[in-house]
Amino acid sequence: GSVIGILGGGQLGRMLSVAASRLGYKTCIFEPGGDCPASHVANFHFKASYDDTEALARFAEAVDVITYEFENIPTSALDALDAVKPIRPGREALRVSQDRLVEKEFLEGLGLSVAPFADVPDGAALEAAIARIGTPAILKTRRFGYDGKGQARIMEPGDAAGALADMQGAPAILEGFVDFEREVSVIAARGVSGEVACFDPGENVHEGGILRTTTVPATLSTAQRTDAVLLAGRILNALDYVGVMGVELFVTPAGLVVNEIAPRVHNSGHWTQNGCVTDQFEQHIRAVAGLPLADGSRHADVVMENLIGDDMDRLPDLIADPKAGVHLYGKAEVKAGRKMGHVNRLVPRTS
Ligand code: ATP
Ligand code: MG
Ligand code: MG
Repeated sequence: GSVIGILGGGQLGRMLSVAASRLGYKTCIFEPGGDCPASHVANFHFKASYDDTEALARFAEAVDVITYEFENIPTSALDALDAVKPIRPGREALRVSQDRLVEKEFLEGLGLSVAPFADVPDGAALEAAIARIGTPAILKTRRFGYDGKGQARIMEPGDAAGALADMQGAPAILEGFVDFEREVSVIAARGVSGEVACFDPGENVHEGGILRTTTVPATLSTAQRTDAVLLAGRILNALDYVGVMGVELFVTPAGLVVNEIAPRVHNSGHWTQNGCVTDQFEQHIRAVAGLPLADGSRHADVVMENLIGDDMDRLPDLIADPKAGVHLYGKAEVKAGRKMGHVNRLVPRTS
């Protein structure tokens, strides 16, 4: 049997491992941490750092294809790996999504709408950026941000100095604030032969920069739904993409605005585990393993709720609820803001 290599040992790697094993594959994770969510379910674990090129080479030898659960993989590690085995999704998707400025320019180049943005390479550039973009705006580090980390809101020009301090000297971009009606995301997949399949768009609610719930179906017109799926396909095709991608969108009266893309399975796609015959994790494994994509159609309405920090106090009630699909990540320690698991609540499909 084939072995799927997965870079990263968090909850996404864990759920990818489970899906791979269901399809008869073995999995091998590469993750510096020891007791991580994926280590409990993967067949093999390379516990080494991303600058250990020798360990990376041995890992690549041990697997048939390499995928990942996070996009911030160092370029030097990618060089060591892709000399040996294919990395899917490919390098171009990583190059684009590792840097918010490159990503915005790429999306704009495809003719898609994005928030107004300006490069802020250093503190001296911020004043001119604010003059051009206006307020309210959000200053974001170009790299390494997630769950709203590395971001600061600038409600008025006077907030600039504080926001700049939050960047800790990292190169940033300034984004104009999009006055959206709602946030939705499309979980899209593309196979090695170029076929594209999308799951139904989900509607996302964030709290403190962290995803709180995803609801399907999203409140969207037929035209918006079609738009969302077509623009996701356009992004995947432009990158010659193989795998699952999360495309985050703002819904505005003027149309859909792309917030960001994630070249991996996505938190807002967790509802598919209970709402579809084939979930996003299996779809991703199918794509990177070169299998045909599955049908992603939805058989239920679902509300996915993340279990963050103290939400775990409610676990006994959730476990006792026969309608709740509970998914836990096996993290030893509960911490504020830490994603511990999620729950999918189902009702029969209404639309
Ligand atoms: P993720 O965990 O999804 O990777 P992230 O840290 O990369 O998050 P973003 O997706 O850029 O952060 O922003 C987090 C949330 O902040 C968005 O989902 C949205 O609610 C809000 N937000 C971000 N940028 C804008 C914007 N330009 N206008 C309005 N709201 C925004
Ligand atoms: Mg992000
Ligand atoms: Mg986001």
